Amino acid sequence: MQFKTLLTAIGICGLTACSGNKGRQEQTVPAKDAETYTNSIQTRLNEYAKVKLTADLSHLSANQKQAVKLMIEAGGIMNDLYWYEAYGNKGKLLDSLFWYDSDPKTDIADVDRSPRPDLRAFIEINYGPWDRLDGNSSFVKRIGSKPKGANFYPADMTVEEFENWTNPDKKSPYTFVRRDKTAKLITVPYHEMFSRQIQKAAGLLRQAADLAETPSFKKYLRLRAEALLTDKYFESDMAWMDVKNNPLEVVIGPIENYEDQLFGFKSAHEAFVLIKDLEWSKKLERFVRYLPDLQKNLPAPDAYKQEKAGTNSDLGAYDAVFYAGDCNAGSKTIAINLPNDEKVQMAKGSRRLQLKNIMRAKYDKIMVPINKALINEKQQAFVNFDAFFSNTMFHEVAHGLGIKNTITGKGTVREALKDLSSTLEEGKADVLGIYMIQQLAKKNEIESDMKPYYTTFLAGIFRSIRFGASSAHGRTNMIRFNYFKERGAFSRSADGKYTVDYGKFAQAVDALSKDILVLQGDGDYAKAKAFIEKYGSVSPELQKDLDKLSDFGIPRDIVFEQGIDVLGL
Ligand SMILES: [Zn+2]
Repeated sequence: MQFKTLLTAIGICGLTACSGNKGRQEQTVPAKDAETYTNSIQTRLNEYAKVKLTADLSHLSANQKQAVKLMIEAGGIMNDLYWYEAYGNKGKLLDSLFWYDSDPKTDIADVDRSPRPDLRAFIEINYGPWDRLDGNSSFVKRIGSKPKGANFYPADMTVEEFENWTNPDKKSPYTFVRRDKTAKLITVPYHEMFSRQIQKAAGLLRQAADLAETPSFKKYLRLRAEALLTDKYFESDMAWMDVKNNPLEVVIGPIENYEDQLFGFKSAHEAFVLIKDLEWSKKLERFVRYLPDLQKNLPAPDAYKQEKAGTNSDLGAYDAVFYAGDCNAGSKTIAINLPNDEKVQMAKGSRRLQLKNIMRAKYDKIMVPINKALINEKQQAFVNFDAFFSNTMFHEVAHGLGIKNTITGKGTVREALKDLSSTLEEGKADVLGIYMIQQLAKKNEIESDMKPYYTTFLAGIFRSIRFGASSAHGRTNMIRFNYFKERGAFSRSADGKYTVDYGKFAQAVDALSKDILVLQGDGDYAKAKAFIEKYGSVSPELQKDLDKLSDFGIPRDIVFEQGIDVLGL
């Protein structure tokens, strides 16, 4: 476990005055002086605009309101599980924070024991002592850099050791890798590691199921409770696909693999509690009809588009009332595309949940000021919320396009491209989302002037690059920025304002779509890595422009005030 490793390292440090331990993951970040840390915590906190997470609940019945409460309680438990996955022992970190955040040269008797509420708040935002918007850099003095495999693997395990180890469950999304008493690698299933917490969460979901007013939602909640206890999610994912027209929604469990940056195998726990906007959802449904047609016309050779896009898909608009765990750490998710299980996707397609109130909050707090700061005055009027909403919505739909399996016999794209797979998958969804808009505009299904979509897309790249290289979304936007720049899709004036070239922008969308689809279909790890390395960095010029956004005090993301009290339940 990571926490034990840290304690060991600290123990050694105490004896050897921190001269040793070179090459340990925990020792790679150079210590900064106390003042830099103190100042930067407040600055880093200011990068998150506070948003109250509320929604209109007046149309819900008393039972439904009670179910929302129960789902929020169950969701809250995911916070604890995710804390352990991302870091280790939260309680010990916070209890000993005065010590962890003291200068390594200071004697324990002289350590400042002030409570440091700012530091605690920032640790809570990041679910650990590493800044998710700053490449997971450490902001607590005695804690070094974050292990790439977070707390899913032993911090001292090498990639080679893992690959030479024969164990059928080692790549399972639902096991921890640990060492036994003889230091041999073993797997521990999530449901064993977390047996106490998931019993409680499952109980709460079952109570919510008793109150559910549609049979499909009732069935899903019961199966999801069962799945948490067994780590077999297939049945509940299938049942979730059948939940239609229910005013409430909960997404809960170990779901995304972003937190495992070592291999991308392990899923991290999270929860969303959502209220469905039934009226808006109707408007969105019709776009799903076009998926098979759009799949056929993808800008890639035929071999890369032979899989059928799922048509039994549900595209809905929601207001979020609770976030926990993975989705609540650092930058906040604005749309959901699930399930991730390729078997369920092949059988039933997927569901795309657009989180309208979160998008609106980010647009108002972040996109509006970015537009003013970085987009050419003549094009600023093209940046608007409708285009932002469309770009994001079609990003989610576009996850359903392309292919899930390599065409070279290397298994699924996810298996073949391992830690690179989410970066490319997010990149694919971004460009194919714009591709879909182009196609639907041609059919006159949506507003046909592409200027708002393209300009808002460019402004959106600046927003997302600020998530940092530690996030798949941040990395994929750096790739797109450099790729588009190389193709003249936009230009930058001497005063740091960007202007879109609409014709070249369209061409760059097609070219990048093709490149990513081919990389995914080939499943060639080395090629994908070379591609990401070629395009995935921030130039000094771009960094200067991004710094300008920070100097203007434009927040990078939002943090929620949320929960049962905030909702007045
Ligand atoms: Zn995505």
